[in-house]
Amino acid sequence: MPRPAPSPAPPEVRMERQTRIAIVGAGLAGLTLAGLLQRAGFTVALYEQAAAFARIGAGIILSPNVSKVLRRLDIEDELATTGIRPDAFVSRAWDTGRTLYELRFDPAAEAHFDGYFINIHRADLHDVLQKPLAPGTIQFGHQLAGLEPRGEAIRLRFANGATAEADIVIGADGIRSRVRDAILGKEEPRFTGRIAPRAVFPTERIPGPMIRDCTKWWGPDRHVLTYFMTPRRDEVYVMGAVPAERWDGGDSFVPGSREDFIEAFAHFHADLRRVMEAATDVTVWPIHDRPRNDRWSEGAIGLMGDACHAVRPFMAAGGAMAIEDAMILSRCLARFETAEEAFATYAALRIPRVAEVQRISIENSWMHGPTEVDWFFGYDPSIVELIPAAASAPLKTAGAASARPATA
Ligand SMILES: Cc1cc2nc3c(=O)[nH]c(=O)nc-3n(C[C@H](O)[C@H](O)[C@H](O)COP(=O)(O)OP(=O)(O)OC[C@H]3O[C@@H](n4cnc5c(N)ncnc54)[C@H](O)[C@@H]3O)c2cc1C
Repeated sequence: MPRPAPSPAPPEVRMERQTRIAIVGAGLAGLTLAGLLQRAGFTVALYEQAAAFARIGAGIILSPNVSKVLRRLDIEDELATTGIRPDAFVSRAWDTGRTLYELRFDPAAEAHFDGYFINIHRADLHDVLQKPLAPGTIQFGHQLAGLEPRGEAIRLRFANGATAEADIVIGADGIRSRVRDAILGKEEPRFTGRIAPRAVFPTERIPGPMIRDCTKWWGPDRHVLTYFMTPRRDEVYVMGAVPAERWDGGDSFVPGSREDFIEAFAHFHADLRRVMEAATDVTVWPIHDRPRNDRWSEGAIGLMGDACHAVRPFMAAGGAMAIEDAMILSRCLARFETAEEAFATYAALRIPRVAEVQRISIENSWMHGPTEVDWFFGYDPSIVELIPAAASAPLKTAGAASARPATA
C-alpha cells in the first residue's frame, strides 16, 4: 500500500514541551494519546486503575481511519499481521440468509481508503498499543479518586493514597469517567435496553463449510456479528445484541448461559444457527451510552474517548473515535500555546464527526444495505486541517452533512 510521507511539522509549535501532561486511563484512547504525545516530545504520565491488563475474550473491528493513526506510531503493520485482515464485511438477513450488502476489503479497497481493515483480539491490540511507549509510562494500580487545583497546576489524588501533579489532565477513563465527573458532575450512564452476549470458541467446533471472515446478521429487534480475530482463523468471536428490560449485573460482564444465547437466535437462518450452537463460554455485557454532551473540557482538564462520547457498539466505531481523538488532540496540544485553545480546537473538529457516529450507532443502520462509507473510512485525522475554534462554524448547529468531512 502506498505510504504518504509524514505530514510536515506544523509551522507554529508552541506548547512548551516541559508541560506535564497526565492521562487517566490506559484504554485505547489513553494508550494512543500517550504514544503520540511522547513522539511529539512531551512528558506524559499515564495512570491506569487496573493492576495489569486482563486478557478478556473479546474482539474489536478497526478500520482504515484507525489504521492511518497507528501508522504514525509505526505499529500499523504489526497490528495487521497480529489481527486478521478480513476479506469482506458481509450483511445478511436473519431469515432468508440473503446478502444485503458486501463491502470487499481487497487491496483495491485498502488503497482507496489508504489503510487496513483489521479485526483483532482486544488483548492483542492493547499489547501492540503499548509498544511505542517509553518504559515505565503506565502507572498501574492508580485509580483516580479526585482532582484539585494547586496553584497553576492540578493535583491528582489516587485511591491507593498516591498523589501527582500535572499542568494538563486528560480523562481517557471510559464511560464511567472520574475526570468527567469533575467537569460535569456525576451522572450514571444510560442503559440502552440491549445486552451483548459474547463467546469465543474454536472454529473447528462449527460443523459444515468454513464461515466468512466477518458477517453481521440483521434481525428485526436483534443482531449478531461473527468474525475471526487472527489470520489463523482458529477461533471465532460471536457478539450479539438483544433486547433486555434492565441490567442488574453491575459495571462489568457476567457469565452467561449457552442455552439462552442459542435460544435468542433460534429463529435465525441455519447458517448462523450452526455457529451459535457451537458456542462455549458465554459472557453477557451491558450496553450503555450517554446522551450527547458537547462540554469536553474545563480549563486545563479535558476528556476523550468514551469519557466524553460513549457510543453504542452498533457501528463498531467507539474505539475508532477514541483513537481518532488521540491524533487530533495530540496535534492540538503540540500546536497551540494553551490547553484551553488546544481543547477548543480539538472539540470543534471532533464533535460533528462523533455526533454523526453516535446518531448512526443509535439508528443501527451502518452497512445494513448499500452505504456511503468514504467519509468514515477515508478520514485521516493526522492531516485534517486544525482550524482554530474561534474560526469554526457554531457547533450546536452542525448537522449531518457538515459532520461528514470530505475524504482526506
Ligand atoms: C460489546 C462492545 C463491542 C464493541 N466493539 C467495538 C468495535 O468492534 N470497534 C470499535 O471501534 N469499538 C467497539 N466498541 C467500543 C469501544 O470498546 C470503546 O469505545 C473504547 O474501548 C473506548 O476507549 P476508551 O479508551 O475511551 O475507554 P476504555 O477502553 O473503556 O478505557 C478506559 C480505561 O480507563 C481505566 N479507568 C477507568 N476509570 C479509571 C480511574 N478512575 N482511574 C484510572 N483509570 C481508570 C479503565 O480501567 C480502562 O483501562 C465496543 C464496545 C462494546 C461495549
